[in-house]
Amino acid sequence: MIVADRKPIEEIIEYIKDANKVLIVGCNECVTVCEAGGKKEVGVLASALRMYFMNQGKDIKIDEVTLERQCDHEYLEEIRNIIDQYQAVVSLACGVGVQFMSEKYFQTPVFPGVNTCFMGVTEERGVWSERCQGCGQCILATTGGICPVSRCAKRLFNGPCGGSSKGMCEIGGEVPCAWQIIIDRLTALGRLDDYEKLAPIKDWSKERAGGPRKVVREDVRQ
Ligand code: SF4
Ligand code: SF4
Repeated sequence: MIVADRKPIEEIIEYIKDANKVLIVGCNECVTVCEAGGKKEVGVLASALRMYFMNQGKDIKIDEVTLERQCDHEYLEEIRNIIDQYQAVVSLACGVGVQFMSEKYFQTPVFPGVNTCFMGVTEERGVWSERCQGCGQCILATTGGICPVSRCAKRLFNGPCGGSSKGMCEIGGEVPCAWQIIIDRLTALGRLDDYEKLAPIKDWSKERAGGPRKVVREDVRQ
């Protein structure tokens, strides 16, 4: 899932302070799971903003809605009939949802209510960690299912650097060395031969350069 973290309320106040009617829009998918932008967080944020503006003596109406997804046309259409009533929208979806809503409702200012962080997993309640950077050339088949792009601080492709010590990464902070995990996993699988194979230099242009990436399903391409 995409992991996000709610922005400090001061930042959100700054975005909407000149509006008289604001819509806060949550998303039922990833940001709900990581407790940053689901229905519950929409309610908490809306209450906090109402309280803040009431204390300031400012009359501002703050409404709430949570969509199934903000990255799909059909769900974003659900607010078409009401969006023109608002001078500002705060989206608690990831950056993808904020952008899709901005493209669809071109005349309405849409502000991000969360900081989109990474694609990751729930390690335990309230703790999420990164697993994938969507590099477009997945090499998990040869690295024992452990990703060095997202988990090695230097994105190394052929074994650990000299800073790997006792299984930990030299960046500190109790971060395990990704390559130690890869070696341990390949050992457990009896596939250390994969570790001996030299991985080719990665073509990073496929990841970042050239503008936004796109995936088109085969039957749609034809
Ligand atoms: S190699 Fe890592 S970053 Fe690239 S697609 Fe696979 S899991 Fe994601
Ligand atoms: S110690 Fe391991 S995880 Fe850290 S940068 Fe070196 S190889 Fe990568």
